[in-house]
Amino acid sequence: MTHASNDSAGCLFCKIATGKIPSKKIYEDDDVFVFHDINPWAPVHFLMVPKEHIESLVFVQEQHSVLLGKMLVLAPKLAAQEGLRMEGDGGFRIVINSGKEGGQEVFHLHIHVMGGPRPWKRG
Ligand code: 5GP
Ligand code: ZN
Repeated sequence: MTHASNDSAGCLFCKIATGKIPSKKIYEDDDVFVFHDINPWAPVHFLMVPKEHIESLVFVQEQHSVLLGKMLVLAPKLAAQEGLRMEGDGGFRIVINSGKEGGQEVFHLHIHVMGGPRPWKRG
C-alpha cells in the first residue's frame, strides 16, 4: 500500500480545494472544502473534501478521526443550507466510494452528499 498523504501533485481535488481549478463552492474552513459536483446525480449533489490530501478511506488513520467526524457533522447542516428537507419524507444520501473496486474515480477522499425530490438521475 502506497503512502497517500501529502502526495498531492496533479490531484484534481487538491487543485479545486486551493482554488487553482474553479468550482461552485458551498463552504470552506481551515480543514474542509465543499463544492457542487460537476455531474450531479440528484437535484442537490455536493462533494466534501479534506484540504489534506488523503487518497481514500483506505488510507485514513487514527489521526484523521476528528477531521472525519467534523465532516459528517457538517454534512446535514450544509445539506439543509442547500435546501434539502430534513423533516418528514426528506433526507439525504452519503456515499464514500473507496478504491477502484469501490467505484472511486478521483483519488482524493471525498464525501458525496445527495438529496432532493426523486427520481434522481442515478442512485
Ligand atoms: P468518485 O467516483 O471518485 O466517488 O466521484 C468523483 C466525482 O467527482 C464524480 O461525481 C464527478 O462528477 C466529480 N467530478 C469530477 N471532476 C470534477 C470537476 O472537475 N469538478 C467538479 N465539481 N466535480 C468533478
Ligand atoms: Zn488531493
